[in-house]
Amino acid sequence: MRRFKVREQMKPRNESKKIFKIEFHKIETGLNPLFLWIGIAWCISKVLQWMTLSEHTVWEIGWSRFLNLYGDDTFNLIVHGTSNLSFILVVTFSGLFLFMDLTLKPETFRKYKVQPHTNEPLEYKKLRKLHHEWTSSIAIIALYSHPFEHFLVNLGSVFGGIIISGCHIATAWIWLGLLLISTLADHSGYHVPFLHSSEFHDYHHLKFNVNYGATGLMDYLFGTDKVFRHTINDIRHRTLYTFKSARELFPDPSNQKDE
Ligand SMILES: [Zn+2]
Repeated sequence: MRRFKVREQMKPRNESKKIFKIEFHKIETGLNPLFLWIGIAWCISKVLQWMTLSEHTVWEIGWSRFLNLYGDDTFNLIVHGTSNLSFILVVTFSGLFLFMDLTLKPETFRKYKVQPHTNEPLEYKKLRKLHHEWTSSIAIIALYSHPFEHFLVNLGSVFGGIIISGCHIATAWIWLGLLLISTLADHSGYHVPFLHSSEFHDYHHLKFNVNYGATGLMDYLFGTDKVFRHTINDIRHRTLYTFKSARELFPDPSNQKDE
């Protein structure tokens, strides 16, 4: 009887621990791991500066060299520099994903597919579809939307912060690069290890009227992620700090029963 009482008292504490664990996991997943990689790169540059007794970090030295090569004309940097950077990033990253979708190679990377066997192989005629006509998206359509949506949502949200803060152009480029890589990965149809999980936005394309945001915070507050929270995709929605796929770590419930 006494033992039972102790167990009863322990239960709420274990429950609250579980809730805290789930909520912490939500916060950790909402944060983009690219911020972490940028932070690590900055720390390494500081250590290198200390070790070499240099006046500047490798980033500052690299930026000076870049300006010597490219010129320091502000208009040129903002207009051409930003356009070139965006173009190179979009073509490179979406090109890599497009190669995988068209050739189905490398074979091992297909285990990271969020919706297995979709766009395998990719049909060329589907490439004419606009952004929200894809229930299982691919990277190259990340920025392919109606002009009104593109200017208001895509460009407005990205450049709004840059214009309001008036930040340095190098900071703006890092911010832009971070968002472009994340957006392309979010739409790739793959849950790539060490990058932001694409499960949340992939489900938005599948169901359309859920999961509107990028971090998941506003959807959590307004309850627009309620349907998603009861799916296996929500359990898989976390940054993978391993080369195991989300489907390997958290198999479908039906597969679990079979085992
Ligand atoms: Zn989308």
